Amino acid sequence: MKIVAVRTHLLEHRLETPFESASMRFDRRAHVLVEIECDDGTVGWGECLGRARPNAAVVAAYAGFLIGKDPRETEKLWATLYNALRDQGQRGLAVTALSGIDIALWDIKGKHYGASVSMLLGGRWRESVRAYATGSFKRDGVDRIADNAAEMAERRAQGFHACKIKIGFGVEEDLRVVRAVREAIGPDMRLMIDANHGYTVPEAIRLGKAAAECDIDWFEEPVVPEQLSAYREVRAGQPIPVAGGETWHTRWGMWPAIETRAVDILQPDLCGCGGFSETAKIAGLATLHGIRVVPHVWGTGVQIAAALQFMAAMVPDPVRVAPVEPILEFDRTHNPFRQAVLKTPIEAVGGVVAVPDGPGLGIEIDRAALAEFRMPEA
Ligand SMILES: [Mg+2]
Repeated sequence: MKIVAVRTHLLEHRLETPFESASMRFDRRAHVLVEIECDDGTVGWGECLGRARPNAAVVAAYAGFLIGKDPRETEKLWATLYNALRDQGQRGLAVTALSGIDIALWDIKGKHYGASVSMLLGGRWRESVRAYATGSFKRDGVDRIADNAAEMAERRAQGFHACKIKIGFGVEEDLRVVRAVREAIGPDMRLMIDANHGYTVPEAIRLGKAAAECDIDWFEEPVVPEQLSAYREVRAGQPIPVAGGETWHTRWGMWPAIETRAVDILQPDLCGCGGFSETAKIAGLATLHGIRVVPHVWGTGVQIAAALQFMAAMVPDPVRVAPVEPILEFDRTHNPFRQAVLKTPIEAVGGVVAVPDGPGLGIEIDRAALAEFRMPEA
């Protein structure tokens, strides 16, 4: 079995109503899929987290190292690609592009052996996972407090057991938003807050101390991801568990945060931190310090399928009396191609998402959707 082609598919949709987190403004949705084709006709799919065109350029740079190679040798190919850009790579686009390739290779491997990726990772501990709804970005010309409260009340009505809201726009306004959302969703629904590294340490500590009365499960990316000492200060200075990791890549990028317990919850992104091959190693490291792993998800159905395959295979923590089940991040912001790229969309029913059980990622790609949402040439 040999790889004969490596392709990328750039997808884009321009938003009528732009929205923003504390660190990024979205006037369009843009993602990149990776397609790897083999000499026997088998095709595997992956996705890269982050900017679509730069990721596609790095995938193209890796392609020469893949053509003619056996796609089932996932570990060997991961090391080959990592070493190819290692001296100038190690993280960032070198790894997000590698992630999309690694996911596509595991998809191929699963299709070849007739097994889901979760089976290849060691077995399926669960056939479904509970999803938490991510949303409540800041929208142009809209009152954040009423908008976020109404949105999350709707998620509760749809059956989600948990939701995550965006903060990082100013401590006082954020606190009004958090309180309004807690009021709107009632006492039982779980609530998380994500500052997208919008705060300084004193702001994050002030926000965390005051927001704790709203029963918050985690405080995500309170401060910039480069400063682990700042993470540790926030963790020590306020009572809400701290989460982070969506911008940290590979086991080497995650280890300093794990080893120094900079976070309570680690959020590796399958499409960013190195694919299945690397996320499995990262999750293993996290168990050494009892750090909970909740994968970050921000992409199309391909990424959702990858996250589900990984979560199905996550081993319940053996040292806990009551193991904490993995939960799926389920982006509810507007993206018309998120599910359209799949022939069978992956939806939440009563806040629960089934893990696809077909071979590989367990999905089929709708090529008509790839054509419909193709990004215009630069
Ligand atoms: Mg986040």
